[in-house]
Amino acid sequence: MAELCSVCKKNEVSVKCEECGVLLCGICVKEVMLQEMTPASMVKPGISMSPTRPGMTKKKVCLKCMKEADLM
Ligand SMILES: [Zn+2]
Ligand SMILES: [Zn+2]
Repeated sequence: MAELCSVCKKNEVSVKCEECGVLLCGICVKEVMLQEMTPASMVKPGISMSPTRPGMTKKKVCLKCMKEADLM
C-alpha cells in the first residue's frame, strides 16, 4: 500500500519536506527560495553552474516550514 500525504491524508506521497522530512503529496508541497549569504556562494558573472541564480536555493518543503522560512 502506498503511503499517504501526512498533511491532507488523501493523496499518495510524492516528496518529502527537505526541512523536517514530513511526507507530502504534489499538492501540499511548497517551494521556497532561500538566499544563501555565505561567501562560498559567490559566483563570477557569466559562469553559472545551476539553473537558479547564484546564492539562491530552491527547496521543497511543507506548509509549516514555508511559514518558518518566511519569518527569516
Ligand atoms: Zn497532501
Ligand atoms: Zn517541513
